[in-house]
Amino acid sequence: MDFDDVEKKVAQSGSELVELHATVRQLQARVDRHSLVIQVLKEWLLSQGGFSEEEFLERLQRAVAQKANDKNCRKCGKAMSAKHNRCMYCGEPRPPELL
Ligand SMILES: [Zn+2]
Repeated sequence: MDFDDVEKKVAQSGSELVELHATVRQLQARVDRHSLVIQVLKEWLLSQGGFSEEEFLERLQRAVAQKANDKNCRKCGKAMSAKHNRCMYCGEPRPPELL
């Protein structure tokens, strides 16, 4: 690899880095927007009196536990590889993603 190649590589990784920074900034802005929307929805629902803050947290806790469970096969309970759509041990298909 001569000097020109090295120079080209450095310039290339520099522009990739700039692109990555822009992508992270966009994603951060999107996450902030989503957080705001969720916050507004939650406050609105709470103000309608349909459920309490405790019930909301309870549901959230259940959803978190459910999500953690999804990493295990629902048939045999063994850990499922993220790379495969079926359990490697018993062949059970992965349930569709909820989120
Ligand atoms: Zn299984």
